[in-house]
Amino acid sequence: MRILLVEDENGVANFIRKGLEEEFYTVDHAVDAEDGISLVEANKYDLIILDIMLPGMSGIELCREIRKKSINSPVMMLTARDTIDDKVTGLDSGADDYMTKPFAFDEFLARVRALLRRKQDKLTELVFGELRIDALAHRAFVRGKEVLLRPKEYAILVYLLRNRGRVLSRTQILENVWGYDFNPNTNIVDVHIKSLREKMDEAGITDLVRSVRGVGYMIDNQA
Ligand code: CA
Repeated sequence: MRILLVEDENGVANFIRKGLEEEFYTVDHAVDAEDGISLVEANKYDLIILDIMLPGMSGIELCREIRKKSINSPVMMLTARDTIDDKVTGLDSGADDYMTKPFAFDEFLARVRALLRRKQDKLTELVFGELRIDALAHRAFVRGKEVLLRPKEYAILVYLLRNRGRVLSRTQILENVWGYDFNPNTNIVDVHIKSLREKMDEAGITDLVRSVRGVGYMIDNQA
């Protein structure tokens, strides 16, 4: 399990890093947001821990940047401040959990384990209302009945579900599902979304995939 820690105070960073390494996690440490972004772009992290008060770009802004890049690793925010506003802003920026410094290391480790577990659950199963995705078998079910999807329809559905609440452009869908080398002028995304919708409608889930005119497609946050 590889963890990125973005924290400018070396004392705090060393304390957290040492504690995590004793639990056999691999830890990369960045001292500011810029450093953090280059590590996030170069590596795949199972968990990202962000201090909010950083020199330059804050942890909250960094979290938004990470989510903008469609990086879905769980994010835990660390801060010395403990106002409700900070917590709400932190969570709204795309963080999954929040800890106020100073904290008990045992509680911190328990939260780290919970976030890593949640990520694994996400990898094996995705549930959205009456829709269930078995991500190991690459199969979709509505009320227990399988919906037969072609591989690209399935991949689009999972990509939209994992980013629900966000509008994804055709280009983002193309790059994520077909890869970067695909001709951007193709209407292949629309064709697959159309057939995905037809299959979902038939299975009894209507209006799952919404069109956002001029932008792209999305699945709402709530089923
Ligand atoms: Ca700091």
